[in-house]
Amino acid sequence: MRIVMLGAPGSGKGTQSQKLVSKYGIPQVSTGDLLREALASGSDLGQQAKAAMDAGQLVSDEIVLAIIRERLARPDANGGFILDGFPRNLAQAEALDGVLQSLGKPLDGAVLMDVDNELLMKRLTGRLSCKDCGAVYNVHFSPPTVEGQCDKCGGNQLVRRADDNEATIANRLNVYDQQTSPLIDHYRGLGLLISVDAVGDVDDVFDRVVASLSAAAAAGDASMADAARAALTAHEKSIDKKKD
Ligand SMILES: [Zn+2]
Repeated sequence: MRIVMLGAPGSGKGTQSQKLVSKYGIPQVSTGDLLREALASGSDLGQQAKAAMDAGQLVSDEIVLAIIRERLARPDANGGFILDGFPRNLAQAEALDGVLQSLGKPLDGAVLMDVDNELLMKRLTGRLSCKDCGAVYNVHFSPPTVEGQCDKCGGNQLVRRADDNEATIANRLNVYDQQTSPLIDHYRGLGLLISVDAVGDVDDVFDRVVASLSAAAAAGDASMADAARAALTAHEKSIDKKKD
C-alpha cells in the first residue's frame, strides 16, 4: 500500500500515520526526518541540502525528491510506504508522480484527513501544557479538572505555546488551504483521493481510515479487472477480425 497523507495542522495526520505503520508494517517516510538523516549522514544530497540551509534557503524540490527517491528505493519500501509532509503543493505532487512511476511504485491513494477549520482552530488554540510535567490539555476538549491546575502533578503552570495564538494559527491554516486545495483536486482527478472524516475519537477515525483504504483497494482491483477484461475483449475482437 503506497499512500500520501494529507491533512491540516491539528488534523491528526501524524497520529493516524503512526497507527498505519503499526498495522501494515510499512515505513512512514517523512521529509523532515529524511532531511535530518541526510544531513547527519553527510551524503552528497545531504551536503547539497546543508549548503542550501546554510545559505538561509529552502532545500529545493529537486534535492528533496532525490532524497525521497533514494529512500523509497530501499527494500523496506517494497511492501508500501506512507509519505508524510510531501507533497505540499501541486508542482511537488506532479514531480512526485514522475519519480514514483520511474520507481515502479505509483501511489494507491492520497488519504485526506478531513476536519473543518473551526474545529482545527479549537484544537490548536486550546492547547495547554504543564510546565512542570509536560502533561497536555485542551481547554475545549480535555480541560484539567480544576482550572489552571495540572491533574497529573498538581502544578499550576499550565501554559500556551507562544505560536498557538489565533492569528498565527489562522494564518497557518490559510496557507495550508491555499497550497493543498490544488493538490486535493489533482488526486481527485487521478481517482486517488480518499477523504476520511477525521473528527472524533482517534480509534474511530483510524477504523474509518482502514475501511476507506480497503474500499479503495477493492475498487482499484475491480477497475484493474475491468481493464483486464476490456483488454481481453479488444484482443478477442482483433482475433475475430483476423479470422474474417
Ligand atoms: Zn503537571
